[in-house]
Amino acid sequence: MLKNYKLARKVALACNILSLEGHGDITLGHVTAREHGSDYLYMKPKGLGLDEVTPRDIIVINLDGEKIAGLGGRHSEYPIHTEIYRVRTEINCVIHTHPPFSTALAASDRKLRPVSHEGVLFTDLPVFTDTTELIVKPEQGKAIAEKLGGQKAMLMRNHGIVVAGESVEEATVYAILLEKAATMQFYAELLSAYHWTSEAEVFRKQEQIYHPQNIKNFWNYFVRKVKRNYRNNYL
Ligand SMILES: [Zn+2]
Repeated sequence: MLKNYKLARKVALACNILSLEGHGDITLGHVTAREHGSDYLYMKPKGLGLDEVTPRDIIVINLDGEKIAGLGGRHSEYPIHTEIYRVRTEINCVIHTHPPFSTALAASDRKLRPVSHEGVLFTDLPVFTDTTELIVKPEQGKAIAEKLGGQKAMLMRNHGIVVAGESVEEATVYAILLEKAATMQFYAELLSAYHWTSEAEVFRKQEQIYHPQNIKNFWNYFVRKVKRNYRNNYL
């Protein structure tokens, strides 16, 4: 029995939204949220696609990766989450997915440029290159957290992305915006030479478009969209 249905519901919603926005990869990829004031992490279970998850499926683990509650299995890549939460006390949601355009960009030596609006959020995007294998050991998770530093998002070479947010809403919206930014850059690259937003404009556009109220508005939009597209009872 989960202690916090509201949080489990939010994690399930984030999974469903990410699937709808191109982050699905069979049953791979995971979302966790830290329960306020505790070391309990609410996590998508393994074996289900992001599109299939409902609040009932969400499991609870602790910072050592031990399962506390829930029926499903725990993803082996839990150290990505636990080691980021350990060092980033302001972070309450971690997302790891394999979206196609970000993953393709991570395979290249190209830097993400602010080609579109979304790109202004990711001008200093770190790229994790230590390994392309699954992150299954705490030491590997520590290396992930270290490379991420104080940033909200990171590419993982030949693997995918990590996004860390102060809330489920923020991390989910950022993960979607990162994939969109990578998609726009991919298309711009097809046209060969292209321009990108100047440094001075980057900061103004961050404030104009991606302020906290808009992040909430974007999340609410995605919740409405998932409700229109899914028929799960919990919605
Ligand atoms: Zn992975």
